[in-house]
Amino acid sequence: MIPGGSVGRRVYIETLGCPKNEADSSRLGRRLQAAGIQLAPNPEEAEQILVNTCGFVEDAREESIGALLELTETYPDRRVLAMGCLVQRYRDELRQGLPEVAGWYGLTELDLLVADLAGEEPSPARSTGRPPHSAPPVPAAGGAHAFIKISDGCDHRCSFCAIPGIKGPYRALPLSSVLEQVEAALDGGARELVLVGQDTAVWQAGAWTLPGLIRRLSADPRTAWVRLMYLQPEHLDDALLELIAQEPKLCRYLDIPFQHASGRILRSMRRAGDGERYLELLARARALMPDVAVRSTFIVGYPGETDEDFAVLLDFVKEAAFDYAGVFGFSPEEGTRAAELSGRVSPDLIRERLNRLSGALNDHAEAKAREIIGWTGDLLVDQAPERPDPSARGEGEPPLAVGRTYRQAPDVDGVTYLESPSAQAGPVALGAGSLVKVRISEAVGLDLVAELLPAPDGRRSELGRPEVAR
Ligand code: SF4
Repeated sequence: MIPGGSVGRRVYIETLGCPKNEADSSRLGRRLQAAGIQLAPNPEEAEQILVNTCGFVEDAREESIGALLELTETYPDRRVLAMGCLVQRYRDELRQGLPEVAGWYGLTELDLLVADLAGEEPSPARSTGRPPHSAPPVPAAGGAHAFIKISDGCDHRCSFCAIPGIKGPYRALPLSSVLEQVEAALDGGARELVLVGQDTAVWQAGAWTLPGLIRRLSADPRTAWVRLMYLQPEHLDDALLELIAQEPKLCRYLDIPFQHASGRILRSMRRAGDGERYLELLARARALMPDVAVRSTFIVGYPGETDEDFAVLLDFVKEAAFDYAGVFGFSPEEGTRAAELSGRVSPDLIRERLNRLSGALNDHAEAKAREIIGWTGDLLVDQAPERPDPSARGEGEPPLAVGRTYRQAPDVDGVTYLESPSAQAGPVALGAGSLVKVRISEAVGLDLVAELLPAPDGRRSELGRPEVAR
């Protein structure tokens, strides 16, 4: 610690991995601020650098280790610490391999971490490993969206997944903890609340169920949108689909990690369903909500995946017509059942299948993006460079704003560029968090270009509108 305490306590947090990690970092950041520790916007302005790591798959592990190496090399005079999934899983090996890292903190050691960053001696009470969701309420940082973690751990036992081993069984976070995060996020300027967990659909805390939670969050006039991520297909029932169709502020957006479509492979993955049942689910969803956007994720090259299994998957994605999707090549994760399976697919074949499936998904997604041209609805602005007169934007200048429609989840899907106000819209003052009416005029790959429209009442759309324009 730097003598004098506060001088040495500015902390920069580098977050790797999924939105759940972002939610953890954001909550940790607020907790550090409550402990009198400043958050630095970049490593140069920090005395301590904390890396929130991901240990989910090999690529993510390499990225986390690469970040630790780069930061310790670039900033030899700063303390670099690590937290998160990778540490939880490989602490001993990491400690040996990266002695220059000043501290390693697993998922239940946030009290110790905060004490270390604050330069305090941890008290015995602090070293009990209080779960991360018990962080106290503190002010939030700004932003047009915030990831709100509603649960931790997972009760599923998908054969390829290390998360239950890392994070333990499913635990719904209590309403108070969810509301603390929400309050801090809205106070900090967030307008979209993105609910994350390993299995969002099953959240229940005491008498509170997911519909009640969504209605409560929607009732706050500062909330523009609520979005659900990670809806496991077996828990996405008709009642939940109807809720998504009916709740005005709940984005008509389904993030369903199907993983595969071959029933044989899904059984081996210890997952329910098959392509046929998944298509039925999508048909029900689209019958209720023709304008729903659907994202999914897939794994190719799972042990025993034959050419026929892969063909089933290709046919499935063609039929399912996803708006967005991610594909991973299988990597054997230590401690998982799939790592012990025979029938490994060669790395070359995994790469080939990955390219083919990504190409097919991308083609479908780009076609879906082109179908959106002409759509009018709300755009939530994430960034808007300041300019004196937006209507006077010249050729080649940056867009007026970058934002998202309800069809685009933050970080994972495309974005929408607000290129120019339409003739009738007149000069506008845009900022992060503005909710404005737009018409999509162009698709560039997965990204969209929009023009600003006047709101129906002649004024710019305001935050807290009672409905999500579709
Ligand atoms: S549902 Fe399956 S893939 Fe998702 S976190 Fe749980 S075990 Fe892992």
